[in-house]
Amino acid sequence: MKKDYWNKPTLGLWERLYLPEVVRGLSITGGVFFGNLWKWLTFRKGALTAYYPEETRADYSPVNRGRHVLTRRDGGEVQCVSCNMCATICPAYAIEILSRADLEHPTHPKAPERFEIDYSRCIFCGFCVEACPEDAIRMAKEVPDFPGFDRENMWATQDLLLGWQPAGDPAKKYPAPAAGREEVHP
Ligand code: SF4
Ligand code: SF4
Repeated sequence: MKKDYWNKPTLGLWERLYLPEVVRGLSITGGVFFGNLWKWLTFRKGALTAYYPEETRADYSPVNRGRHVLTRRDGGEVQCVSCNMCATICPAYAIEILSRADLEHPTHPKAPERFEIDYSRCIFCGFCVEACPEDAIRMAKEVPDFPGFDRENMWATQDLLLGWQPAGDPAKKYPAPAAGREEVHP
């Protein structure tokens, strides 16, 4: 049978009967609920629900990376060359970049006029960091502090991303131009 889309699952008889899967889902949810309830009744740590922003979790994984940092060149300018690779790879379409010409620097003639990340959409996958050819975007261990009643308030602006320099991050050195890639000033 022709599939409507490439990864459409093929359902077996058990899945097509529907109700057994509903019962299985309820048993998983119920097991977690009653397990947590029992822990709560016996004064042990139960569900990990935090009443954000009044409370924040204290048990983030040491490998958690929750805040983006835009790095700078030695002169303090933004390192980003506005190539858009991070925005292209982002599965959540969370990055918006408006480019401008940076003709003072022929080897990196574009720079972002506006670079913003929508934290209401970001899933903190780190793909943007992996995709960046310039080490211009990193993710630091901190968690974003962006509670808001309005999605418009959850955009991290370029200035904010440039200002979030984590204390533990080693100073960024801009690599010397590779051979055959020297800057040529007109
Ligand atoms: S961490 Fe993932 S979702 Fe967030 S901006 Fe980067 S690529 Fe997009
Ligand atoms: S952060 Fe990196 S990948 Fe994204 S536009 Fe700038 S240089 Fe390109």
